[in-house]
Amino acid sequence: MRRTSATRIALIYPELLGTYGDGGNAIVLAQRLRWRGLPVEVVNVAAGSPVPDSCDIYLLGGGEDAPQVLAADGIRQNRAIVRAVGSGAAVLAVCAGYQVIGATFPSGGEIHEGLNLVDIETRRSFAPPETPPPTRAVGDIVVEPDPRLGLPTLYGYENHAGRTRRLPGAGGFPLGAVRRGIGDGDSGDGGGGTDGIVDGRVIGTYLHGPVLAQNPALADLLLTWVHGQLPPLEAPQEAQVLREARRRALAAP
Ligand code: GLN
Repeated sequence: MRRTSATRIALIYPELLGTYGDGGNAIVLAQRLRWRGLPVEVVNVAAGSPVPDSCDIYLLGGGEDAPQVLAADGIRQNRAIVRAVGSGAAVLAVCAGYQVIGATFPSGGEIHEGLNLVDIETRRSFAPPETPPPTRAVGDIVVEPDPRLGLPTLYGYENHAGRTRRLPGAGGFPLGAVRRGIGDGDSGDGGGGTDGIVDGRVIGTYLHGPVLAQNPALADLLLTWVHGQLPPLEAPQEAQVLREARRRALAAP
């Protein structure tokens, strides 16, 4: 199947979820389609405006605690993302975005309700209350993706206070095992050591970078989900830059 209409990429609330440069994920997806001669439309969904349910890929990025609450309130209002996923759309949600597509997340000393699109919960810590809260996770992160995804090692940057775990009976599976960094962190029940979630066509992760710039294979996975098979791209310069960034990520103290 080869589609002829433009692939529509929704960048959700860049003013609230744009602190960590994750808007770059929209640029990467759009450019990888254009390089293949395929039409694409990036839909900037400004905070305060209704989220359309007619897009093919929804991108949610990282943000600070307070804007994150506003973003969650906004996307919960018309639940367009949930409807779109039901019709085959894909989602990439990063950090605050990852937290808000789950069941609950913390901000300002309170627990807030998320979109409930994936079965995860986020807290400051899952350790017993008498233990001091863990320090903020900041730095390079390297993740070995679940083999079902057929992806190479994932590289990124993390910067978050929250810790995330799957709810009992959660659908999908963790995006991968953390080789360097924190990712979801300690789940408090003997689990942990993973990052993110993949549930159908929904991906959540703590990886900034932007993650799709650092991991083009992940970008192409999302594109093939909504587009079908795509021809590979030759990008030797990009490959060289990525090799160098990865070498640095693994060598850093
Ligand atoms: N505010 C959230 C946290 O600190 C998310 C941060 C982010 O998106 N980088 O856990």
